[in-house]
Amino acid sequence: MHKPGPDKVAQLRPQPRVLSRQEHNISRENINANALKVLHRLRNAGFDGYLVGGSVRDMLLGREPKDFDVVTNARPEQVRELFRNSHLIGRRFRLVHVRFGQEVIEVSTFRTAHHIADGEGHVVDGTIVRDNVYGTIDDDVWRRDLSVNALFYNIKDFTVIDYVGGLQDIQAGRIRLIGDPEQRYIEDPVRLLRVVRFAVKLGFRIDPATEAPIRGFTELLRKIPPARLFEETLKLFLGGYALQTFEQLRHYNLFAELFPQTEVVLTEEEGGFPHMLLVHALQDTDSRLAAGKPVTPGYLIAALLWMPMQAICREQVSNGMAEMDAVHFASDVVISKQIADIALPRQFTKTAREIWQLQLRLRKIQGKHPLRLLEHPRFRAAYDFLLLRAKAGENVTELAEWWTAFQQEHPVQTEQHRNKPTEGQGRRRRRRR
Ligand code: ATP
Ligand code: MG
Repeated sequence: MHKPGPDKVAQLRPQPRVLSRQEHNISRENINANALKVLHRLRNAGFDGYLVGGSVRDMLLGREPKDFDVVTNARPEQVRELFRNSHLIGRRFRLVHVRFGQEVIEVSTFRTAHHIADGEGHVVDGTIVRDNVYGTIDDDVWRRDLSVNALFYNIKDFTVIDYVGGLQDIQAGRIRLIGDPEQRYIEDPVRLLRVVRFAVKLGFRIDPATEAPIRGFTELLRKIPPARLFEETLKLFLGGYALQTFEQLRHYNLFAELFPQTEVVLTEEEGGFPHMLLVHALQDTDSRLAAGKPVTPGYLIAALLWMPMQAICREQVSNGMAEMDAVHFASDVVISKQIADIALPRQFTKTAREIWQLQLRLRKIQGKHPLRLLEHPRFRAAYDFLLLRAKAGENVTELAEWWTAFQQEHPVQTEQHRNKPTEGQGRRRRRRR
């Protein structure tokens, strides 16, 4: 058969739906000032500049975007030359980060989808490995994951450009992968998690064809490097919707891939207090974030792994091991198994360990112990964790009340400690995680 010539191919390409300035609600007032600077400078230098992804989606929904990603036809080196405050990043593909004080605007160059691959590389055996092939906007759109994440806002004429039915999906409240869902999950299994995360965050329904493969594909996550899974895990649990996300991850059997040891205990103890501990911890995380308070990943890790840690600990104690030794032992076992799947950085596992160990030390309320414990940099986290255990039905309510009263009598440094970001600032480097 004859291959179609270039004009034929162009004709076959779907035409985008274009909303004029009057037909959508995105106003430049809602766009981050630094993102606008980047877009204008690209444009003044003769390049195209678009906002893409979460910012366009969120502004159309009347939500406040988390970050503003820019795409352009300028090559990374050209972007680099336009902004003194910028540098090239990325091993897998090259992006430019333009820095304005604390803020970073990420600028990427249109890339072609190799086949219909995503932005991260060529497809080998169905999985993406590398990519640095630049393209045009209608190459770039097909590598994106969800239709609602593939809308472009053009700085030239303030139009919104939709190649993939994203506008309709936003209106219908629908999470839909672009292209063939099975193929898109195989290309990049992290999309399994992204689908669930965005469905929860936006309150959208997952389209049946996008939903159908999920349960059968959960094992694909084992191919993802632990470091990338750590990044994704933070997004899942620190995005403000931790509890609902956790419930949906369990619904789709995805949680078991992320925290297999915790899943084992959850299935054994369904209905009992251990499940409630995690539920309360996730709820607290969400309300702290909603109130603009800091949350430490270490605390979350302590809660996520508390049940399996306790199970091992109890076993060791019943075999005659001293309690503190058992906590150390159980922490080692649980954390070393966990980091094979998710690369939890040491500063966070260290916090989790300390919170666990302090649960024992909080029991010593005689003599100088309590006052000394108040000074411990992790006291506040450990006390919060004790409250959590009490709330979840563990037999520590009296102890928790004792500590609450004690702090009221000694109010000196407690509030100070609560908000101090001490994680990762330890001077001594320890090999243990
Ligand atoms: P938010 O930042 O609010 O969490 P987002 O949609 O901006 O949401 P990012 O992770 O910042 O999500 O990614 C930016 C854009 O890059 C996405 O909107 C999507 O178009 C594309 N993208 C990100 N990750 C993937 C992926 N794994 N596969 C395909 N496209 C992706
Ligand atoms: Mg984003």
